[in-house]
Amino acid sequence: MKPGSRWRNKIRACEEVGIRSEHHALPESTTSDELLSLIQSLNSREDIDGILVQLPLPKGIDETRIIEAVSPEKDVDGFHPVNVGKLAMGRQSFVPCTPAGIIELLDYHSIGIRGAAACVVGRSQIVGRPMAQLLLQRDATVTICHSRTRDLAAVTREADLLIVAIGRAGMIGKEHIKPGATVIDVGMNKLTEAAEVQALFGSDAESRLSVLTKRGYTLVGDVNPFEADQVAGKRTPVPGGVGLLTVAMLMKNTLMAAKLRRCTD
Ligand code: NAP
Repeated sequence: MKPGSRWRNKIRACEEVGIRSEHHALPESTTSDELLSLIQSLNSREDIDGILVQLPLPKGIDETRIIEAVSPEKDVDGFHPVNVGKLAMGRQSFVPCTPAGIIELLDYHSIGIRGAAACVVGRSQIVGRPMAQLLLQRDATVTICHSRTRDLAAVTREADLLIVAIGRAGMIGKEHIKPGATVIDVGMNKLTEAAEVQALFGSDAESRLSVLTKRGYTLVGDVNPFEADQVAGKRTPVPGGVGLLTVAMLMKNTLMAAKLRRCTD
């Protein structure tokens, strides 16, 4: 599959924590059957505890079939229906890394979840849905919003905890945020136009514009940082916020997989 920095970060993280990793770089021409046979061989290998399929897969490969081929015991991404089902039932399972990292972040900063009004904007399989399940498990009162939600701002403004994963650069503004709320910005959007950067960062745009000149893009979340900081109590930055935790949680899931596979009771 296409090389990218996402798998490199994961390999580096494995090295840092002492997990042996294997990277199977497959050509663009790989068929679903060839990928399935690789997954089957990794499923059956005793020395492999975790398998991660770097998504998105090229067009023509059936992503659902591939995800479902990974043994649930080695599914360190938590995308297999068995693990999704266990999470929905409140049973121990591998939890998708980004929402798991957000719970860690809230706990680390002693931000109360029990009884809080939590709103998750976005209902994807990798962020929104598992995020809502985890918050529910921790006794939050959870509302899930999506592209068909009527009057989004009226709903999000009720939330003590607002978690946004929609993939729309800076869409969540101050009218969406309850004063003092904790805002978790999962979005990772590339801005390539100076005018867009100016509009989102206002008087703080200078450093972002120099990144844009250097790299050709700058990363922004789904939350308008300039506006959010006028009302929110706390906000995770992009970059440097939730993204860093995702890889850390992958390491944690891999360790859990190794322990569970070796546990005899
Ligand atoms: P996704 O699969 O594209 O899902 C987007 C969700 O947002 C959908 O549920 C969609 O609603 C909803 N949505 C879209 N436009 C909306 C609007 N105008 N109002 C309300 N809801 C809207 O996205 P994803 O994979 O969850 O990713 C979301 C963002 O998080 C992306 O920027 C992605 O790059 C980022 N991300 C970051 C990390 C990290 O580690 N930091 C990890 C994963 C994803 P419908 O269901 O109705 O279409």
